[in-house]
Formats: sequence, structure tokens, C-alpha cells
Amino acid sequence: SNQALIDLLNTQHELTQAQWVQLIATFDREDMAYATAIAHQLTIDKFGKNIFFRGIVEFTNYCRNDCRYCGIRHSNHQLQRYRLSKEDILACCADGYAHGFRTFVLQGGEDPYFTTERFTDIIATIRQQYPECAITLSIGETTREAYQAFFDAGANRYLLRHETADPRLYRRWHPPRQRFEHRMKCLQELKEIGYQTGCGFMVGAPFQTPEVLAEDMAYITAFKPEMLGIGPFLPHSQTPFRDYPAGNETLTLFMLSLCRILQPDVLLPATTALGTVQGNGRQLGVLAGCNVVMPNLSPFSVRKQYLLYDNKAGIKDDAASGIKKLTDQMNQIGYNVISSRGDYQPNTEKK
Ligand code: SAM
Repeated sequence: SNQALIDLLNTQHELTQAQWVQLIATFDREDMAYATAIAHQLTIDKFGKNIFFRGIVEFTNYCRNDCRYCGIRHSNHQLQRYRLSKEDILACCADGYAHGFRTFVLQGGEDPYFTTERFTDIIATIRQQYPECAITLSIGETTREAYQAFFDAGANRYLLRHETADPRLYRRWHPPRQRFEHRMKCLQELKEIGYQTGCGFMVGAPFQTPEVLAEDMAYITAFKPEMLGIGPFLPHSQTPFRDYPAGNETLTLFMLSLCRILQPDVLLPATTALGTVQGNGRQLGVLAGCNVVMPNLSPFSVRKQYLLYDNKAGIKDDAASGIKKLTDQMNQIGYNVISSRGDYQPNTEKK
């Protein structure tokens, strides 16, 4: 049994590479139940039975990048591309605000249309209209100057999954012009600028091994992100990785629990991808240590065009019914949905 290792993680908040590999490669049902219970309790101790809701606006599916796993990659010529106007984006925020959201997440492909100037203007307008709301960006890699301009205009948080901490694997997942070193540099800069920063990875993507996941955990241990985005890899039929199997749900839930135990104060969403592998995936995520859910605020008409993977959950709902479904799911397992900003609050009593 690996319970001693889970206990060690819970007290020391770090493991060696060999210990991570052992835990990830050899965990059994009992280890899983043990980690889930500890992670769930840590989450309740920190956040109560409360879930932060963040409204996500998928404002463009144009992307200059060509990630081999991703449905909106540049080379997918079958995809109908869209981008929302500033007015559309503001309307999504207004809709979200009316539903109680106090965090807006703007996510998109790396779309050259949104120059630093254009995007800064959008952020500044949201900041002005919603002074008490948090603005989270998830728009990929750019220059330090652009990150700084977005921050100065009022953005507070940034989600940029590192995808994998293994440089060789990163090169198998991306074309040569997308450089591992650059993505890592971006994460460092985001933190230095003062964003609450989220990294993260997919579970079960092609060629990923326990050794690689161990490296991801070591990276997270060192980087100490305020947020962590982790979900299963799901194949998309118009990508080079179309024939690879989806990531395992159990392993994803186990990794989520390990992340909670590693860093009890981290903001950890139960992702849409987790809700896609199984209808109750996000409920299981919450019971495994997640404390954030990100309902979709994108206009109904564009939802089926922001498909990173096949069969994405929620594309048949409009914003209101998607929010209601997720609220009901959270209530069913005894959780309240919280509409405050839910900023990162570090634990101070322990290391
Ligand atoms: N372009 C921005 C970026 O690169 O950070 C934000 C959008 S990107 C589509 C958001 C995340 O989707 C990526 O970080 C990746 O982990 C995830 N993703 C892409 N394709 C996926 C797939 N096939 N299965 C699961 N997650 C996927």
C-alpha cells in the first residue's frame, strides 16, 4: 500500500521523483480512497462546502498555434472560425454578472486579431464596468510587455497550463516553433508581474508516463501556482492524436487529490473535460478535492465551434441552463455555489 507515501505528502508537501513515480504507477483502490478522503477533508477545512463559480467566455477559436492534441489548432481547416466582438464579450460578462458571477475568465486561441492594444481596451472596459470582479485571462503565450499591459489594465489572474514539465514530451505534443522554454518563461513572468497564476496539465495524453507525471508534480511543487488546471486528455477527430484513447478518469481524479494534498490552498477547478468523460465527473472532482467550477458563458451560437476535443459537455445548453445544471449537481452533493471573487488566499499557519 502507498498510504505511507500519501501521509508523507500530507505532512511534508513534497516527494522525491522516485516516490512520485511509485505513487502514480502503483496506486490501488485503497490508496485512491485514502487520498480522496484526505484531499476532500483538506478542501472542506479550507473552503467549507462551497464551490467558486467562474464564468468562462470562449471569445475566439482562431489560433496561430498547432498543438497536436487540440481541436482548434491552426491546421484544422474543417473548423468554422469565429471571434466575438468587444460588445459580444461585454454582453457575456453582463449575463454572467446577472447570474452572480464575480470572476470572468476570457479564454481563446492565440488570435493575432487581438493585438495588445485591442485586448487591453477590452480588459480596461470590463474593469471599469465591473470594478469588484476578478478578470482571468487564458490566451496563451505572449510577451512580458503584453502581460504587463493586460495586468495594468485590470486583469488579475492568468491560466496557462504548462501542459507537461518534460521538454521531450512537450516536443512530441507541439510543432518546433512552440518552444517549451518559452511557455515556462511565460509562467515565470506572469508570476513576477503579480498575476494569480495557474499552470496545469492533461492526464493520459499520448506518450505520458508516470515518470512524466512525477515531473509535473515536481514542477508544481517548485512553482507554487495559485491555480491548477488539470483534466483528462480527450481525443479530437480532426487532430493528429485522434486515434489515441482518452485519459483515464480514475487517474485524473487521483492526480487532482494529490495536487490538493500537495498544496491545500490551491484553487483547483473540476474541469469541463472531467465533466465530459462522465456526466458526474465534476461532482467526483469536487469530492476528490476540487473547489472551482467554470460554467460556460459563451453565446450559444458559437459553442459548438470551441471544441478542443470531441463530445464536449455543455454545448447543447445556453448559459442559463448550463449554470442551472452545474448548480444542481453541486447542490446534490451538499455544496453551495459561491458568487464572491474567490481570490487565492495562502495558508499561513503551515508551510
Ligand atoms: N490558447 C490558450 C493556451 O494555450 O493556454 C488557452 C486555450 S487552450 C485550448 C486551453 C487548454 O485546453 C490547454 O491548455 C490544453 O491543456 C487544453 N486542451 C487542448 N486540447 C485538449 C484535448 N484534446 N483534451 C483535453 N484538453 C485539451
